[in-house]
Amino acid sequence: MSVRLELDDLSVVYDGARDGHPAVAGVSLSLEAGRIGCLLGPSGCGKTTVLKAIAGFEPVRAGQVRLGGSVLSAPGVHVQPERRRVGMMFQEYALFPHLSAAENVAFGLRRRPAPERRARVAELLALVDLADAGERYPHQLSGGQQQRIALARALAPEPALLLLDEPFSNLDGATRERLSVEVRDILHRAGQTAMLVTHHHSEARTLADDIGTMHNGRLTDWAAAPR
Ligand code: ADP
Ligand code: MG
Repeated sequence: MSVRLELDDLSVVYDGARDGHPAVAGVSLSLEAGRIGCLLGPSGCGKTTVLKAIAGFEPVRAGQVRLGGSVLSAPGVHVQPERRRVGMMFQEYALFPHLSAAENVAFGLRRRPAPERRARVAELLALVDLADAGERYPHQLSGGQQQRIALARALAPEPALLLLDEPFSNLDGATRERLSVEVRDILHRAGQTAMLVTHHHSEARTLADDIGTMHNGRLTDWAAAPR
């Protein structure tokens, strides 16, 4: 079940930051359930830091992270990452090479009973259009197919929110473009609330329902993407 994400005047300061300079300052946005949001901006502008604050890997200096109305982060409040129901797909999160595609997808479902796990894996492989690829190992899949398996693995535990950090940056331009369209359709079909960050304008335009630009830790112009 997907839910709404709200960031309210969010600031993050890293320990040891020069002059206590915030990496993220005063970021506010609201992303409705089932929509794909995108933060667009150059390297170093604070995109990954926003995602780390949402996932609970960095505490917030000021402001709030709310998911489905519950406060996950605020000064003095910090829900642990594993309790947040936030899934992640990062470009450097490669698949486990010694596990098949199906086993990779099943990874986050270890605590579920085996029949439920098998059914969920089959459902996810079909969702990413790789129903027949479950037995294959990552080296037997193309880069784009590997990223679709990584997406299936991230969606398998039914996160309330999915975070995507430059998920296609390792791929060539044509593959990136095609995969952006596929991933948008998969996320919409799943009704998944998702937040993407990227420095690729084309990726942002293709995927985003709502989009904002980051510059020097600040977010400007958060709004519905033109269609
Ligand atoms: P982006 O993802 O947009 O490239 P980041 O969020 O990774 O940007 O980084 C934003 C700023 O925070 C940069 O100036 C970066 O150098 C700094 N930064 C990132 N991670 C750390 C860290 N662990 N400790 C100190 N500073 C960091
Ligand atoms: Mg980054």
